[in-house]
Amino acid sequence: MKKRILTGDRPTGPLHLGHYVGTLANRVRLQDEYEVFLVVADYHALTRDQEKAHIVATRQFSRELVLDYLAVGIDPDKTTMYVQSDVPSVCELHLLFSMLITTPRLDRVPSLKEVMDAEHIEQPTYGLLGYPVLQAADILHVKAHLVPVGKDQESHIEVTRELARRFNFLYGQVFPEPDALIGDVPTLPGTDGKSKMSKSVGNAIFLSDDAKTVEQKVRAMYTDPTRIRADIPAEPEGNPVFAYHDAFNQNKAEVEDLKTRYRTGKVGDVEVKKKLAAALNVFLDPIRERRAYFAARPKLVDEILAAGIAKVRPISQQTVDDAREAMGLGKAQSSVDSQQ
Ligand code: ATP
Ligand code: MG
Repeated sequence: MKKRILTGDRPTGPLHLGHYVGTLANRVRLQDEYEVFLVVADYHALTRDQEKAHIVATRQFSRELVLDYLAVGIDPDKTTMYVQSDVPSVCELHLLFSMLITTPRLDRVPSLKEVMDAEHIEQPTYGLLGYPVLQAADILHVKAHLVPVGKDQESHIEVTRELARRFNFLYGQVFPEPDALIGDVPTLPGTDGKSKMSKSVGNAIFLSDDAKTVEQKVRAMYTDPTRIRADIPAEPEGNPVFAYHDAFNQNKAEVEDLKTRYRTGKVGDVEVKKKLAAALNVFLDPIRERRAYFAARPKLVDEILAAGIAKVRPISQQTVDDAREAMGLGKAQSSVDSQQ
């Protein structure tokens, strides 16, 4: 039997270049080797925003997310995609896991503080503190072995591993201890020079942006603020424009030439950015084409998500039954009834 992958994204906006290098490329690459599950994490989106209008908007984003998956090359015949709240048995596992971890441990998860800062949250809700516990339930209700994520989520997978270990120690072997798989670029910086491109911060180039938008965003990108003229030698390291060249420009000789001239004060930012916008558009063109193809078939997304529910629900229920039995709770009555 193939080992399983589970990973996913919050439906809080379109996917961007950071997602591609951080996790999407690995998901596409491993579709044959693993049985892959992608969760559209709409419960997780509630940790940020509880306003009804925004919750309703996540439903549209969920569909867009599936289109983004298809556009980068996720094959619906190989990969299972589903919306988290369509498989609510994950909540039961979340509750069981929540008894096995302390709040000080969750307080120490580094992304918590980062999210609170970025989103101007003064006190975390119970749900936000439990973000990595719900993520552990997502991963472990399909007993996944591998979780392709960006570097910012590595600490969450550590929580998953601890929960699996703790559960297995107390009640017997039920869960695998999954590994995180970090992408080629662990964290892609934002167009504003901030350390991480994020869909909700306004510093992202989206996979669905058209060529003109990409050119505009690149032109406005943050570069070395001390370099006020093209003849000032400067270091490409730490400059997001060069980070994107490294990640997406297939013409490696061009990248090396630009870096050499940058170091010696022989190239202007305008040229470096023009070449970057062109390279990004070469990278994005086939993604845009596939997206348009699938967007013209709106029923397809419904079918994919319905198939996802049908596949994941029984797996999830079986895992919850396994966990309950191991703990001594016994199978839930509804689960016993449905088997008679
Ligand atoms: P939000 O601002 O809503 O948190 P996000 O852009 O951080 O959005 P998530 O849905 O939180 O996206 O993350 C989805 C996946 O993409 C995670 O595995 C995360 O680690 C990865 N990821 C997100 N941003 C980047 C980035 N800039 N570089 C590399 N990986 C990233
Ligand atoms: Mg995030």
